Amino acid sequence: MAKLFIIVGPSGCGKTSLVKNLVKKIDKLNVSISCTTRVPRANEKDGVNYFFITKDEFIKIKNQNEFIEYAKVFGNYYGSNRKHVEDMLVKGNDVILEIDWQGARQIKQRFAKAISIFILPPSIEALKQRLDARNQDNKDIINKRMQASVSEIKHFNEFDYLVVNDNFEDAIEKISSIIYSKRLTLDIQTKKYKNLIKKLLSTQNSI
Ligand code: 5GP
Repeated sequence: MAKLFIIVGPSGCGKTSLVKNLVKKIDKLNVSISCTTRVPRANEKDGVNYFFITKDEFIKIKNQNEFIEYAKVFGNYYGSNRKHVEDMLVKGNDVILEIDWQGARQIKQRFAKAISIFILPPSIEALKQRLDARNQDNKDIINKRMQASVSEIKHFNEFDYLVVNDNFEDAIEKISSIIYSKRLTLDIQTKKYKNLIKKLLSTQNSI
């Protein structure tokens, strides 16, 4: 019943802030905390932003087939832990995976019903501004990320939904609508309101 949402977009498109806001705002929506071999940034905490692990630990988890997807991005490994994601789904929570296009492809192959959303920045200038403003990476890394961003954008047409993050509140509203609409499909609502529907239909016989 619970759903997997994939959110992808170039570095600096604002997807992390969007996801943070969405899980705060929408009930029963969790975000998957990825494992990475990247060094933590100054404001990042282990187990909150990522599970920061060594390359050896990453390879071990990968060899045990414990990642539902993984990829090498900017020279570091990132992966979504199967058990971590399954635990949230089993509890009936929808899960957002904030990953890159390579991981999104793997998820779509394994979970055809996963819903994928691509976030576009309003312009290249805005993307650069956001990466500069973040002030967390050095110039060399920022330039590399700018190049990688354009490569990432090339994959926009592999996704189910496209949202331009021009205005934050507007983007939140659009992504929320996607999530709510997926929760309101006939199959899900029929299961949720099984008793109500039964009662309503049985009333027909007694009229
Ligand atoms: P950052 O280092 O800026 O936190 O993330 C770099 C890129 O890695 C972003 O595009 C982010 O979405 C992606 N990423 C983060 N976690 C995962 C993951 O678990 N799997 C994959 N495939 N990509 C991830």
